[in-house]
Parts: sequence; C-alpha cells; structure tokens
Amino acid sequence: MRQRIFFKLLAAFALVMAAAIVALIFPSRSLILLLLAVAIALLIAGVVSALTARRLRHIIHFADRIATGDLEAQIAENSSDEIGQVASSLDAAVRRLKGNFAELETSKHQLETLLNSMEDAVIAVGPDDRVQWVNNSLDKMVPQGARLDSPVEETIRDPDFLQAVHSASKEIKVSTSRARSILPGRTFDVTAAPLPGGGAVAVLRDLTETERVEKTRRDFIANVSHELRTPLTSVQGYTETLLDGGMDNGHTREFLDIIRKNATRMSRLTEDLLTLARVESGEHQFDIQPVPPAELLREAVQHFRESARAQGIELQLEDSTSGFVAADREAIRQVFSNLVDNALKYGASGGKIVLGARALGESVEFHVQDFGPGISSEHIPRLFERFYRVDKARSRESGGTGLGLAIAKHIMFAHHGSIRAESELNHGSRFIFTLPAVEEIPQ
Ligand code: ADP
Repeated sequence: MRQRIFFKLLAAFALVMAAAIVALIFPSRSLILLLLAVAIALLIAGVVSALTARRLRHIIHFADRIATGDLEAQIAENSSDEIGQVASSLDAAVRRLKGNFAELETSKHQLETLLNSMEDAVIAVGPDDRVQWVNNSLDKMVPQGARLDSPVEETIRDPDFLQAVHSASKEIKVSTSRARSILPGRTFDVTAAPLPGGGAVAVLRDLTETERVEKTRRDFIANVSHELRTPLTSVQGYTETLLDGGMDNGHTREFLDIIRKNATRMSRLTEDLLTLARVESGEHQFDIQPVPPAELLREAVQHFRESARAQGIELQLEDSTSGFVAADREAIRQVFSNLVDNALKYGASGGKIVLGARALGESVEFHVQDFGPGISSEHIPRLFERFYRVDKARSRESGGTGLGLAIAKHIMFAHHGSIRAESELNHGSRFIFTLPAVEEIPQ
C-alpha cells in the first residue's frame, strides 16, 4: 500500500494517544509519560516537516531551472506519496516538452535549409517592419548584407518592394510588384504574403535573365521579319510589274533575274535560320570523332580552290600540327566555309587567304586570315551576334545573311572550343577557332 504523508502523521498521532492512554492507566507516571509522548510527537512532526520542506525546495529549484529554459532539469523523486507523484508528473511533463522542442528545432532547421537552398531571395519582416530573417540568397544579393532586427529599408530600399511588403503586412493579403532598383540593371519579381503573427514574408525572383531572353527573342523576330521584308517586297513589286504588262517592254529577263536573286536570298536566309536553330537548340547530334587537323584544312582548301582562283585569290596553307582533334567533320567544314566565304567576300582585295593550324597544348588553333580592309575595333566584340554586320549594304549585296559567324560560334560551343576575331583596319582580318586535341584514336 502507498505510504502517504497522512499515514505518517496518523501514526505519530496514534503513538501520542497510546502514551496518553498509558498515562491514564498508570497515573503515578502519567506526567513523565505525557511529557515523553509530547516530546516524541514533536520530534516526529519536526522530522516529517523538515523532510517535506526539503523536497518542496527541490521542486522549487527544479521549477526555477525550467523557467530559465533548462530542460535537462529533473526532480527524480523515488517516493510514491503525493509529493512524489507531483514530482514524477512534472518530470514527465518536462520530458514531453523536451521532445516537442526537439521536433520543433528539427522542422525549423529543415525549413531553414530548404529556404537557404532556394535560388530566390526570401526575407521575413516583423509587424514592427524590422527584418526578422533572410535566406542566404538574399544575404548575398544585398551588397552591404542583410541587417537583422533593423528597419527593412536599411536592407532593401526599393519603393516597389517596400510597397508590396507593407500592403501584405497591413492589409493581410498577398501582394506582388516588380522591383527595378534593388540592384543596378536587375529586375526582381516580388511576392509578399502576410505572416500569421503579423508582418510579411517576401520572395524575390530575379527576372533579368528571363527578360533578356524575351528581349532577344523579340529582337530576333523583328530582325527576321525585317530581313525577309526587303526581298519579299521586291519579289512582289517585280511580279506585279510583269503581270501589269511589264513583259512587253523588253525588261522581262532583267525583272525575272531580280526575282530569282531575291528568292535565292530568302532561301539562303531560311537555310541559315534553320541551321542556327538546330545548332543553338542543342538538338543537333554532332558526330564528334578524332580527325587529323591537316585533313580538315585540306578539305577546306579543296572546297574553295576553284572559286578563289576565279577571283584571282591565292589560297595558302600553314600547318604545323600532328595528332588529332575532336571534331564533327561536317560541322567544321561549315565553319571553314563561313570563314573562307567571308574572307572572299570582304577581304578579296588582299589577294591572298591563309588557312592554318598549330598545336596549342590541350587544343589545336585554326585560323583563316585575309589581307583585305580589316574590321575596326568597335565592331569586333559584336561580330558573332546574329544579324550583326559591319557594312549592311555590302553584306546583302554579296548575298550575306548576317548569320554565318553566329552559326560558327554555336558549332564551336558544341565542340567545347572557342572562336574569336583579330583585326586592324587596313591590315586584314584573322578568324581563329580552337578545337580540343585528342592524343590518339580511342579504342
Ligand atoms: P554575313 O552573312 O553578313 O557575311 P557573317 O555573320 O558571316 O554575316 O559576318 C558578319 C559580319 O562580319 C559581316 O557582315 C561583315 O561585315 C563582317 N565580316 C566577317 N568576316 C569579315 C572579313 N573577313 N573581313 C571584313 N569583315 C568581315
């Protein structure tokens, strides 16, 4: 049976009562016995209350530790009386609390890891408009770093961002905006949502790249339409003239020739557009094999020998390589074709074109050099852009589409190589591309 404090006191009382009864039966010794009984009762009461007070102090100390957040505290009472039961209930409550805290810590940690792994920047702002928390992306994005516990404007000053956070926090609704002054030249899509305890959390997505891609796409469509409009208008115009009786004035052949030229131009343009789309999308499967650089050079020279001779241009070969390069023959033939074709179109006045290759450590560097008028330095960085031409009229007149170098650049990307131009006005141009060298044919 459980030993309770009540029973302990009852036992002490019974002892005193027994002494009193003995004193009544033996009156001669009654006073002594009575005094003895009172003394024993006082002693027992004193011991019991001292023990109880000590156990209660233990519980108070335990409560103080819990109040300071020390969840390791325990009372660890062995007794099963009322105080013992209170103690074991308190111990169990603390153990549960500790378990709950551990679970909360784990899920907080998981949430933080998730938010920190996000590419988007995240910021939590309290009801007092101070920064409560930011993820790594936001901390890295803000040049001076995020300032926790400080007013949000000290971290991000952009008015559109602040407006979104403010309306989410005050009007308790999801709010969006486009922020353009967080970082120079960058645009962010801001989505702010109210937090349950007041304040707001905002997610910032960098739209710069998406906007750039959209603009490139728009520009590309505008360029293609523009490129097609001129020959189409010409074809339309001359066809109508012929149909309206132009056939009678002896210019039929001339007009038909113009129509044919424009149709050829459109066909070349669509051909180049398709090639560019194929190599740029990454869908084209390049058949990359070890090929001796000398073979690639020889094929290019053979291909252009006749047309060069017809223009009175000498084709020279400079080759100091051995071994192999990793190349798709067909694609490299196309690169050489675009470069030599350009050299013939724009650099023919130099009278000579040199094709060459030299080993350069891990790669082989090929070049196509002409001795024509050259290209002034401000055009060099843009030469490989789609539709970029130094002299638009000259390019169109010679059948250029403005896509040849862009196609060459994408073919080189697919080969893990590179391409660049070196030129000086009146000193000709040199187009250089590199291909990875391979030691021997892999088995
Ligand atoms: P295009 O079809 O107009 O030749 P490309 O992309 O091949 O288009 O070349 C882009 C522009 O670069 C040309 O329009 C021309 O102005 C310039 N260019 C290319 N190669 C040469 C060169 N060898 N000498 C001078 N200018 C060149």
